[in-house]
Amino acid sequence: MTDLLPYGLGTPNLVEFQPGYFVENSIVDDLKALSSEAKANGFELRVESAYRTFEKQLSIWNRKASGELPLLSETGERMARPKDEEELMYAILTWSALPGASRHHLGTDIDVVDGAACPEGYEVELTPAECDGMFAKFHAFLTERMEMDKSFGFSRVFIPGRGKIKPEGWHIAHLPTSRKLLEHFSLSTLREIYGQCDMACKRVVLARLPELAEEYIYPYFV
Ligand SMILES: [Zn+2]
Repeated sequence: MTDLLPYGLGTPNLVEFQPGYFVENSIVDDLKALSSEAKANGFELRVESAYRTFEKQLSIWNRKASGELPLLSETGERMARPKDEEELMYAILTWSALPGASRHHLGTDIDVVDGAACPEGYEVELTPAECDGMFAKFHAFLTERMEMDKSFGFSRVFIPGRGKIKPEGWHIAHLPTSRKLLEHFSLSTLREIYGQCDMACKRVVLARLPELAEEYIYPYFV
Protein backbone atom coordinates (compact mmCIF):
# COMPACT_ATOMS: atom_id res chain seq x y z
CA MET A 1 0.00 0.00 0.00
CA THR A 2 1.22 3.50 -0.83
CA ASP A 3 2.22 5.58 2.15
CA LEU A 4 -0.01 8.62 1.88
CA LEU A 5 1.58 10.48 4.77
CA PRO A 6 3.64 12.96 2.69
CA TYR A 7 0.43 14.01 0.92
CA GLY A 8 -1.43 14.88 4.12
CA LEU A 9 -3.60 11.79 3.87
CA GLY A 10 -1.91 9.31 6.18
CA THR A 11 -2.11 8.89 9.93
CA PRO A 12 1.01 10.58 11.28
CA ASN A 13 2.20 10.21 14.84
CA LEU A 14 1.23 13.66 16.05
CA VAL A 15 1.70 15.46 19.34
CA GLU A 16 -0.08 18.66 20.35
CA PHE A 17 2.88 20.99 20.87
CA GLN A 18 0.82 24.10 21.51
CA PRO A 19 -2.98 24.15 21.94
CA GLY A 20 -4.43 23.38 18.51
CA TYR A 21 -1.03 22.90 16.84
CA PHE A 22 0.21 19.40 16.11
CA VAL A 23 3.68 18.23 15.08
CA GLU A 24 5.33 14.90 14.30
CA ASN A 25 6.31 13.16 17.54
CA SER A 26 9.94 12.72 16.51
CA ILE A 27 10.62 16.48 16.29
CA VAL A 28 9.17 17.40 19.70
CA ASP A 29 12.41 17.11 21.71
CA ASP A 30 14.34 19.27 19.24
CA LEU A 31 11.52 21.79 19.04
CA LYS A 32 11.42 22.02 22.84
CA ALA A 33 15.18 22.54 22.86
CA LEU A 34 14.96 25.34 20.26
CA SER A 35 12.10 26.88 22.18
CA SER A 36 14.09 26.83 25.47
CA GLU A 37 17.07 28.36 23.71
CA ALA A 38 14.82 31.11 22.36
CA LYS A 39 13.39 31.69 25.81
CA ALA A 40 16.85 31.98 27.33
CA ASN A 41 17.47 34.77 24.82
CA GLY A 42 14.29 36.67 25.64
CA PHE A 43 12.08 35.32 22.86
CA GLU A 44 8.89 33.28 22.97
CA LEU A 45 8.84 30.83 20.08
CA ARG A 46 5.16 30.70 19.18
CA VAL A 47 3.76 28.37 16.55
CA GLU A 48 1.27 29.94 14.14
CA SER A 49 0.84 26.95 11.85
CA ALA A 50 1.94 23.33 12.08
CA TYR A 51 0.57 20.04 10.72
CA ARG A 52 -2.09 20.44 8.06
CA THR A 53 -4.15 17.73 6.38
CA PHE A 54 -4.75 17.40 2.63
CA GLU A 55 -8.37 18.42 3.22
CA LYS A 56 -7.30 21.62 4.95
CA GLN A 57 -4.86 22.56 2.16
CA LEU A 58 -7.48 21.71 -0.46
CA SER A 59 -9.94 23.97 1.33
CA ILE A 60 -7.42 26.86 1.35
CA TRP A 61 -6.74 26.27 -2.36
CA ASN A 62 -10.40 26.14 -3.33
CA ARG A 63 -11.36 29.17 -1.24
CA LYS A 64 -8.56 31.22 -2.78
CA ALA A 65 -9.79 30.15 -6.22
CA SER A 66 -13.40 31.06 -5.44
CA GLY A 67 -12.53 34.42 -3.93
CA GLU A 68 -13.66 33.43 -0.42
CA LEU A 69 -10.07 34.00 0.76
CA PRO A 70 -8.07 36.98 -0.54
CA LEU A 71 -5.51 36.45 -3.28
CA LEU A 72 -2.22 38.25 -2.69
CA SER A 73 0.21 39.52 -5.30
CA GLU A 74 3.94 38.75 -5.18
CA THR A 75 4.45 41.84 -3.05
CA GLY A 76 1.72 40.81 -0.63
CA GLU A 77 -1.09 43.16 -1.69
CA ARG A 78 -4.60 42.03 -2.39
CA MET A 79 -5.11 41.40 -6.10
CA ALA A 80 -8.07 40.92 -8.42
CA ARG A 81 -9.00 37.33 -9.15
CA PRO A 82 -7.79 36.39 -12.67
CA LYS A 83 -10.49 35.03 -14.98
CA ASP A 84 -8.06 32.78 -16.82
CA GLU A 85 -7.72 29.42 -15.06
CA GLU A 86 -3.96 29.18 -15.57
CA GLU A 87 -3.34 32.72 -14.31
CA LEU A 88 -5.53 31.98 -11.31
CA MET A 89 -3.55 28.83 -10.54
CA TYR A 90 -0.23 30.71 -10.62
CA ALA A 91 -1.67 33.49 -8.47
CA ILE A 92 -2.67 30.96 -5.79
CA LEU A 93 0.73 29.25 -6.02
CA THR A 94 2.53 32.48 -5.13
CA TRP A 95 1.60 32.01 -1.48
CA SER A 96 -0.14 28.64 -1.20
CA ALA A 97 1.17 25.16 -1.83
CA LEU A 98 -0.58 22.62 -4.01
CA PRO A 99 -2.78 20.34 -1.89
CA GLY A 100 -0.82 17.13 -1.31
CA ALA A 101 2.49 18.95 -1.78
CA SER A 102 2.53 21.31 1.19
CA ARG A 103 5.42 20.80 3.58
CA HIS A 104 2.87 21.34 6.35
CA HIS A 105 1.55 17.84 5.54
CA LEU A 106 4.74 16.40 7.03
CA GLY A 107 4.29 17.55 10.63
CA THR A 108 7.96 18.52 10.60
CA ASP A 109 7.42 22.10 9.44
CA ILE A 110 6.08 25.02 11.44
CA ASP A 111 5.48 28.73 11.02
CA VAL A 112 6.88 30.65 13.98
CA VAL A 113 6.80 34.14 15.45
CA ASP A 114 8.08 35.75 18.61
CA GLY A 115 5.12 35.82 20.98
CA ALA A 116 7.04 38.17 23.27
CA ALA A 117 7.26 40.82 20.52
CA CYS A 118 3.65 40.47 19.44
CA PRO A 119 1.47 43.40 20.54
CA GLU A 120 -1.64 42.52 22.57
CA GLY A 121 -4.53 41.63 20.27
CA TYR A 122 -2.39 41.78 17.12
CA GLU A 123 -3.40 39.21 14.54
CA VAL A 124 -0.31 37.64 12.98
CA GLU A 125 -0.39 37.55 9.18
CA LEU A 126 2.95 35.87 8.44
CA THR A 127 4.36 38.43 6.03
CA PRO A 128 7.88 39.56 5.07
CA ALA A 129 7.04 42.93 6.66
CA GLU A 130 6.53 41.28 10.07
CA CYS A 131 9.81 39.35 9.71
CA ASP A 132 11.67 42.58 8.99
CA GLY A 133 9.69 44.52 11.59
CA MET A 134 8.38 43.35 14.95
CA PHE A 135 9.92 39.86 14.68
CA ALA A 136 13.27 40.94 13.20
CA LYS A 137 15.33 40.24 16.32
CA PHE A 138 13.79 36.81 16.73
CA HIS A 139 14.54 35.94 13.11
CA ALA A 140 18.10 37.22 13.44
CA PHE A 141 18.46 34.90 16.45
CA LEU A 142 17.14 31.94 14.43
CA THR A 143 19.42 32.77 11.49
CA GLU A 144 22.45 32.94 13.76
CA ARG A 145 21.67 29.55 15.35
CA MET A 146 21.11 27.96 11.94
CA GLU A 147 24.40 29.33 10.62
CA MET A 148 26.24 27.98 13.68
CA ASP A 149 24.49 24.61 13.19
CA LYS A 150 22.96 25.01 16.65
CA SER A 151 19.30 25.03 15.66
CA PHE A 152 18.54 21.42 16.65
CA GLY A 153 17.92 20.29 13.05
CA PHE A 154 15.69 23.22 12.07
CA SER A 155 16.33 25.23 8.91
CA ARG A 156 14.46 27.61 6.66
CA VAL A 157 13.24 26.06 3.43
CA PHE A 158 11.65 28.86 1.43
CA ILE A 159 14.70 31.00 0.85
CA PRO A 160 15.62 33.32 -2.05
CA GLY A 161 17.04 31.65 -5.13
CA ARG A 162 15.25 28.35 -4.59
CA GLY A 163 12.18 27.52 -6.71
CA LYS A 164 9.30 29.91 -7.35
CA ILE A 165 7.68 30.14 -3.91
CA LYS A 166 8.24 33.52 -2.26
CA PRO A 167 10.75 33.46 0.61
CA GLU A 168 9.06 32.66 3.94
CA GLY A 169 11.32 33.49 6.85
CA TRP A 170 8.73 32.31 9.34
CA HIS A 171 8.62 28.76 7.99
CA ILE A 172 11.13 26.40 9.59
CA ALA A 173 11.54 22.68 9.02
CA HIS A 174 13.14 19.83 10.92
CA LEU A 175 15.10 18.59 7.92
CA PRO A 176 16.49 15.30 9.29
CA THR A 177 12.89 14.13 9.78
CA SER A 178 11.27 15.67 6.71
CA ARG A 179 13.91 14.17 4.39
CA LYS A 180 12.93 10.68 5.47
CA LEU A 181 9.23 11.38 4.96
CA LEU A 182 9.77 12.75 1.46
CA GLU A 183 11.86 9.83 0.21
CA HIS A 184 8.88 8.08 -1.34
CA PHE A 185 6.96 11.10 -2.60
CA SER A 186 5.78 10.47 -6.14
CA LEU A 187 4.13 12.72 -8.66
CA SER A 188 2.06 9.86 -10.05
CA THR A 189 0.52 9.27 -6.63
CA LEU A 190 -0.28 12.98 -6.38
CA ARG A 191 -1.90 12.79 -9.81
CA GLU A 192 -4.05 9.86 -8.67
CA ILE A 193 -5.11 11.78 -5.57
CA TYR A 194 -6.16 14.77 -7.69
CA GLY A 195 -8.19 12.46 -9.89
CA GLN A 196 -10.38 11.68 -6.89
CA CYS A 197 -10.93 15.13 -5.42
CA ASP A 198 -12.85 18.26 -6.16
CA MET A 199 -10.12 20.81 -6.79
CA ALA A 200 -10.22 24.23 -8.44
CA CYS A 201 -8.05 24.63 -11.56
CA LYS A 202 -7.65 20.84 -11.67
CA ARG A 203 -7.48 20.65 -15.46
CA VAL A 204 -4.56 23.06 -15.73
CA VAL A 205 -2.80 21.67 -12.62
CA LEU A 206 -2.85 18.16 -14.12
CA ALA A 207 -1.70 19.45 -17.52
CA ARG A 208 1.22 21.35 -15.98
CA LEU A 209 2.06 19.00 -13.09
CA PRO A 210 5.63 18.01 -14.12
CA GLU A 211 6.75 21.63 -14.53
CA LEU A 212 4.87 22.75 -11.42
CA ALA A 213 6.80 20.10 -9.50
CA GLU A 214 10.12 21.41 -10.85
CA GLU A 215 9.26 24.95 -9.78
CA TYR A 216 7.11 24.61 -6.66
CA ILE A 217 7.71 21.19 -5.12
CA TYR A 218 11.13 19.59 -5.73
CA PRO A 219 13.28 22.69 -5.06
CA TYR A 220 12.06 22.47 -1.45
CA PHE A 221 12.95 18.81 -0.93
CA VAL A 222 16.16 19.77 0.84
ZN1 LIG B 1 4.61 27.50 6.50
